[in-house]
Parts: sequence; C-alpha cells; structure tokens
Amino acid sequence: MLFKNTFVGGIHPPEEKEFTEKLGIEEATLPKQVVIPLHQCTGFPYRSLVAKGDLVKVGQKIGDSDSAISAPVHTGISGKVVAVEPRLTFMGRMVESVVIDSDGKQDVSDSVKPHPVIEKISIQEIVEAVKNAGIVGLGGAVFPTHIKLSPPKEKRIDNLIVNGAECEPYLTCDYRLMLDDIFNLAYGIDIARKVLGVSKAYIGIEDNKPVAIDYLRKKLNRVEVRALKTKYPQGGEKQLIKTILNREVPSGGLPMDVGVMVLNVATCAQIAKTLKTGMPMIDRVVTVTGKYLRNPANLRVKIGTLYRDLIEECGGVDGTIRKVLCGGPMMGVAVPSLDIPVHKGTSGIVVFTQKEIDEMERDRYEEVCVRCGRCTEVCPVYLNPSLLADYAEKGDWEMCKKLNAMDCIECGACSFVCGSRRDIVQLIKLAKDNIRKHVK
Ligand code: SF4
Ligand code: SF4
Repeated sequence: MLFKNTFVGGIHPPEEKEFTEKLGIEEATLPKQVVIPLHQCTGFPYRSLVAKGDLVKVGQKIGDSDSAISAPVHTGISGKVVAVEPRLTFMGRMVESVVIDSDGKQDVSDSVKPHPVIEKISIQEIVEAVKNAGIVGLGGAVFPTHIKLSPPKEKRIDNLIVNGAECEPYLTCDYRLMLDDIFNLAYGIDIARKVLGVSKAYIGIEDNKPVAIDYLRKKLNRVEVRALKTKYPQGGEKQLIKTILNREVPSGGLPMDVGVMVLNVATCAQIAKTLKTGMPMIDRVVTVTGKYLRNPANLRVKIGTLYRDLIEECGGVDGTIRKVLCGGPMMGVAVPSLDIPVHKGTSGIVVFTQKEIDEMERDRYEEVCVRCGRCTEVCPVYLNPSLLADYAEKGDWEMCKKLNAMDCIECGACSFVCGSRRDIVQLIKLAKDNIRKHVK
C-alpha cells in the first residue's frame, strides 16, 4: 500500500502551539470546590448517588445512569457535598451537578483497588473496569470507551489507530502526554490491542511534532509510528483512517465498518492508569493557553475545577478577557461564563482578550457567496458547504439531508477559507440539528 501521509482537502491554520508545547504536564492546585456535572457524555438520564451533606472520598462514584450508553461520574476530591443542583456548563445548558467543598485530605475511597495485570485479566474484566471507571473518548467525542471496545461480533477489527495528531491550533495536551506519560500510553495501547484482538497498531502524529515522533519510535514496541502531514483536520477519525490505511469510511458509516478502531492517546493512557491503580476517571490534562495569558500551562486538572480558578492559576491575562473557548479555535465552543467546570471532554481552555477579538473582527462582515469553490476544495468529507449553507438558510432540511449534511464533521475548514466570511459551519450545524428533529 502506498502511504501518502495526508488526505484530500484540509487547511493549515496558524499553529499557535508555542505557548505551551515545551511545558511538561503539571498537577493543578487542588481546587477548594468542584462542580461536577452528572451528564458528561452521550446517554441519559443521570442520577446523583449522593445528597447535600454527604462526605465523599477520592474516586467515589457520585453519579450514574441506567442508559446503555453512559459512563458513571466520580469525584476527584474528598470533602463534603454542599449542593446537588443544576449548574451552567460549557454549552450554556444547565445540568444537574454535584458541588463538593474540599476538606484538603484527599482520602481515597475503599472502592479504588488495582486490577490484575494484563496477562491475568480477561477481556470482559477489562471492558467492565473501563465502564465502571467512567472512561470516555478524550479527544473531544466523549463517547463511552467501553462501548467502543465492544464492537458487534460481525464487525471484525483488524487495525487499531491511536490518535496523536492533535491538529487543533493552541492545544498541546496530547503532545505533552505522549512525552510525559509514555508508560501509561504504551500499556493502554497493549490493553486495547488485547481487547480488540488486533496485532497491528499505528499511532498517527503530525510532522510538526518531530520530538514526539522520534521519542515514540524509540519507546513503543509493536506500534508503527506514522508521521502525518501537518494539516487540519488530520486528527479526524475518517481522515486518519484514510491517511494511514487508505480505507474510506462510507457516508454515514463508522470506523468499525472498515475494520478499524481509533482511540485517542489520552484515552489509552487513562485506561492504563485505571487498570494499574483502580482509580476511575477523575482528572485529565488541559492546555490552558492564550497569547496574553501570563503563564500558560499543561495542567492535570480535577474534573469539576472551574475555568476561573485555572485562569487565575495561570496568572490571569494582560488585558481584559473577552472570549474563552472550551477546546481549540477550530472546533471549540465559546463558554458562557468563567464559572463553568472542566468536564471530561475539556482538552483546552483558550483565552482571548478584547484587543485580540477587536483585531480579528475588524472589517469582519458577511458578504454574499461569490461561488469561488474554496470551501468545497478544503472539505475533507467531500461536501459542497456553500450549497449546504444556502439550503440551511432557506430551512430546507430535506435537501440538506440529501446533500449529506450529516457527514459534516464540523471541522470549520470551510468557514476558515471563505473570503466572504460566511458562517458556513454554524449553518450546517443548524441543519444537522433540524435533520435529527424533523427529517426521517
Ligand atoms: S462542510 Fe463540514 S466537514 Fe466540510 S469543511 Fe465544512 S465543517 Fe468541515
Ligand atoms: S468559500 Fe465562501 S464565497 Fe467561496 S463558494 Fe464557499 S461559501 Fe461561497
């Protein structure tokens, strides 16, 4: 097979990784209070397992769901539950949350016990451990990992791809994890390979990270490290599969339809940590960054820590904070307040000042589409974004569906290149939402 190291379409936005790429992962200060949303992944409804006044310990399960597609929620701090009530989350929604005041002791729950080593643990026990630990895809999808690790029998998986591309500008949490947590990464890949019964594993890393590529080539056994062309959205599952294996996931299909499983590097490391220590998913690495943030960092952060606390820990900004993103600038979401908590899918907190936003928005006004075709050229899933945006503006959801709007991975490459500054991706997101609700 000819390895081309890239996919069709895509863009190369400014990388902006220099603020944090050389900074190793540090433990964030233990928060005085956490706000842990009970609903952090696909699946509902979730219920609290604790009540106001309860004392909790590190690793204790505090929320669960009867839904088949769900992942339980645990506390990363010990202390007292001071409220169980709806709180604002990154998407602007109120979500039932458990608010815990730290007692500073970090006493660990009796439920936290290490699992047997890889040679002695069965596949079923691994999947069960991943499920009970509340592990979800940490690349942003937050889909429960135990379900991914249990593909239907008729789907034969022959390749595991570990996603270390991290193509989003500003973010370096996965890059640092590859350098700073290699043993967990390696062990997690071995565990995933055992569960899936695959001998072949690849790790895909963009070629703007030569240090990580060299390091992993030296350290990882039985894993082929592939240097991929630096191009956004190289980290998309379908783009990785096309680039590394030259397999095309069909429209509406999943990686397992072409025999592939894709797991993010941080998800693999979390699986390993959980099996070794028994500790469920209570924290994650977050890149806290921005041009005017005084001390950007890659921090291991307890789930439920407030954005405001982390920005303060990083020294605040020179100027006035105007916009804060959960995630990177291409696929991230502008958060409605600084008093929202880090959830399992928070890979980055990117802070923009008033000055930066003023510069970005100067002369920014939407013009009519000039049919230049640039958005179609860069679309990595072969859509016609301009036409989709036209039909979305008219509210013709049937036509949006016929034009495969549901295949859009919401990468934003079309909006990025549009000289007329049309907000194409927002229109397509609107179309997808309406197709789900109104079109059969
Ligand atoms: S239409 Fe969707 S997938 Fe295509 S470039 Fe735009 S956002 Fe990305
Ligand atoms: S890039 Fe913008 S102006 Fe060009 S065809 Fe697409 S929507 Fe129209």
